Amino acid sequence: MPHREPSGQLFIVSAPSGVGKSTIIGKVIPNCAKLRFSVSSTTRAARPREIDGKDYHFLSVDEFVQGIRSGRFLEWARVHNHFYGTDRSIVEKWLKGGDDVLLDIDVQGTRLVRCAHPEAETIFVLPPSMEVLEERLRSRGTETEEQLAVRLAAAGREIFESSWYDYIIVNDQLEEAAEDLRAILRARRSSRVARAPEVQAFLMSLLDPNAKS
Ligand code: ADP
Ligand code: 5GP
Repeated sequence: MPHREPSGQLFIVSAPSGVGKSTIIGKVIPNCAKLRFSVSSTTRAARPREIDGKDYHFLSVDEFVQGIRSGRFLEWARVHNHFYGTDRSIVEKWLKGGDDVLLDIDVQGTRLVRCAHPEAETIFVLPPSMEVLEERLRSRGTETEEQLAVRLAAAGREIFESSWYDYIIVNDQLEEAAEDLRAILRARRSSRVARAPEVQAFLMSLLDPNAKS
């Protein structure tokens, strides 16, 4: 029986801009042991309360293109007219070390990550309605009218892609949506695939090489 090294699980969360994905993730990550959040790189400007290195690594277009050329990104995509990408080295280091990793990336990036990690669990967050989505985007107050139009136009296209995700969370009541995400993480952590190294070690310990069969 080949020995299987323990490895972390990869979770991907996608949603149209303004659904509340960052808010949900922000509630779940701090209380979830061994779950790491991958901070993406982007060429969009930082919003007033965003911190470089915590919310995103804010890069110039030149720095981002250099990152693409050097193979820095596990995936990257052009979203709402800006570049976004996931750092390969940190994600793979965490997974190898046995930590679970959560990515907040768009549908294009999710397709790319699934090529490298077909076992990744994919979660799509829906708004209760398009009206509520627009209201939330506007109330956040971080986009100009032009940027809002780009994001709302993209929302419909992104929601069409939700049908191939493993899980759908509807973010109506925030606490319930956060609980749904926690439940998905817990279920996956108890799956046969995730527990295989522990089960294997257990079964090996039961084998007695001196036993006469
Ligand atoms: P995303 O990361 O998906 O772009 P945000 O997390 O920034 O979205 O949330 C967009 C806005 O909606 C924020 O002002 C946030 O406080 C608000 N919000 C998030 N979830 C809910 C919810 N369940 N009910 C009401 N407002 C919410
Ligand atoms: P925002 O500008 O609102 O923070 O994010 C806009 C969109 O970019 C969201 O759909 C978000 O999931 C996506 N995004 C954030 N980081 C990444 C990334 O590293 N890769 C990809 N492909 N999309 C990302």
